[in-house]
Amino acid sequence: MSATRHLFKDSGYLALPGEFYAAAEAHPAPAPRWIVFNQALAEELGLPPDAATPDLLRQLAGGAPPEGRKNLALAYAGHQFGQWNPRMGDGRAVLIGEIEAPDGKFHDVHLKGSGPTVFARRGDGRATLPAMLREYIVSEAMAGLDISSTRSLAVVATGAQVFRDAPHHGAVLTRIARSHVRVGTFQYAAQGDAGQQQGPLLTRALADHCIARDYPEIAGTPEPYAAFFAAVVERQARLIAQWMLAGFIHGVMNTDNMAISGETIDFGPCAFMDAFNSRQVFSSIDSAGRYAYSRQPSVAMWNLARLAEALLPLLGNDEASALRLAQEKLEGFRSVYAAAFAEGMERKLGLTPGDARNAEFIERLWPTMEHGRADFTLFFRRLTQIAAGADEAGFLALFAGGEPQAHGQEAAFLAQWRELTADRDPALRLADMQASNPIVIARNHRVEQALERAAEGDLGLLERLSAALKNPFAEPAPGPEDLEAPPKPDERVTETFCGT
Ligand code: AMP
Ligand code: MG
Repeated sequence: MSATRHLFKDSGYLALPGEFYAAAEAHPAPAPRWIVFNQALAEELGLPPDAATPDLLRQLAGGAPPEGRKNLALAYAGHQFGQWNPRMGDGRAVLIGEIEAPDGKFHDVHLKGSGPTVFARRGDGRATLPAMLREYIVSEAMAGLDISSTRSLAVVATGAQVFRDAPHHGAVLTRIARSHVRVGTFQYAAQGDAGQQQGPLLTRALADHCIARDYPEIAGTPEPYAAFFAAVVERQARLIAQWMLAGFIHGVMNTDNMAISGETIDFGPCAFMDAFNSRQVFSSIDSAGRYAYSRQPSVAMWNLARLAEALLPLLGNDEASALRLAQEKLEGFRSVYAAAFAEGMERKLGLTPGDARNAEFIERLWPTMEHGRADFTLFFRRLTQIAAGADEAGFLALFAGGEPQAHGQEAAFLAQWRELTADRDPALRLADMQASNPIVIARNHRVEQALERAAEGDLGLLERLSAALKNPFAEPAPGPEDLEAPPKPDERVTETFCGT
C-alpha cells in the first residue's frame, strides 16, 4: 500500500449516481517536480508535516492513484458567455479524493491540467505553468482577503511541453474545494440523460448531496429545496459583494464557473483592478464586456436564474407555483447583496454603521473614483492613512495624474467624508478601515512578472508575493514597496489571456 493512500479518502461524489462522473485514466508525467507546495494550507487541512513526498509528487502530477482508487472526471453542462453547452465536464481535471480536515469539514482534492478525460473533446487536457500559478496566487490571495474561495495546495511541473500561443512548461494545480458542484452540474442533471423521469431524479440526488455537504443546517427542514436555493442565492450575494469591495474581476462567470458552495472557483483571466473603471474586463475574449466589473452582480443573478430553472421540479408540484417560489427566492439576492455591500463599504470608509446619510455618500463613490481614475486599492489605503493622521496630499495625488486643479470633486468628497465620520470614535474608525482595506493585493502586473520569472526558473518574486498576500492588511515590513505600488503606464496589464 502506498503512503499517499492514507492522505486522501474516497470522494463523496462516489455516492452520487454514475451519470455525474466518469473514471479517468492516469497520465503519469515524464519528469514531475515541485514548483510550490502550500505548507500552511497542508497544515490547516491536517496533512502530516512531511506530506510532500516523491509519491505524492507523482500523484499530483497526474500519475496513477494508489491501489484500489480511481480518479473521477466530473460531468457538467453550462452557459458559456450565454451560449448553452449541454456537454462539458472536467476535460482536463480529475477529482482524486477528499480530505477530512481537523474541524470535521470535507474538502475535495482536485487536479487541473492532469491530462485528457472523456470530456476533453478536442482539448489536450493540459494546462500551462503560468495559468496554474495564476490560479495559485489569486486563489490564495482571495483566502488572505477572507473571501470564500477554492484553495491551492500545490503546483507541479510535469516536464512536458504544452503549446498555446507559444510552448510553455506543462503544469498541474492541486485545487482544494469544499465542493466542485457548479450551477452547471445542476443544469447537467436537469436535462436528464435517459428519459423523462431521469432529470428530476438526478437533480434531487445532487441537491441532497449538496445539502448534506455544504448546507447541513437545511437537511430535514419542511421545504429543503426552496431553502437550499435561497441559501445558495444568499451565499452568492455575499460573495459577489466581497468581490466588488475588493475590486476583483472574475473574468469568466459562466454557469460552470459558479460553485454551489459559494466559493470563488475557476480562476482564468481574473484580476484585481488598478485604476477604477466600472466597465473593466480582463478576459481577452470578452469583447462585449459581459463579465465587466460592474456587471458581476447582475450576471450572478442571471446564473442563479439558470440554477432555479434546473431546480424547478423540486420546488413545487405545479410549474406556476414553483416559478413563483423560485422568483421570490432569487429576488432575495438584491437585498442580501445591497446589505453586504453597504456594510462592507461602511467599514472600508470608516463610516458610522447604519448612519442614514451613508447610502447617498456611498453612491457617490464610484463616480468619484472613476472621474479621477483613482487606483482602487490605494484610494482606500490613502483614506485609511488620513484616518491615521496623514495629511490629504497623498489621497489627492491619486486623481488625474496628481494635478491640483482637477481636485474639485475629490476634495468635496473628502470634506463630506470628514463630516460623516467626525463624531465617530477615531480609534474605531481606524480599526474598521485597517481591517478591511488591503495594503498588498495581487496586482496584475506583479502577478504577470512573477509568472514570467517562474517560467524561467526564478521563484523569488512568486514566493515573496505569496507570502505578502497571506497578510494583506498588515503593514508590511520595511523593504521594497514594489508589491504595493500600482503599475507605471508602461507596466499596465489590461488583458489576461484565456489560453490556459
Ligand atoms: P474553463 O474555461 O477552464 O472553465 O473550461 C471550460 C471547459 O473547457 C471545461 O469543461 C474544461 O474542462 C474544458 N477545457 C478547458 N481547457 C481544456 C483543455 N486544455 N483540454 C480539455 N478540456 C479543456
Ligand atoms: Mg470552468
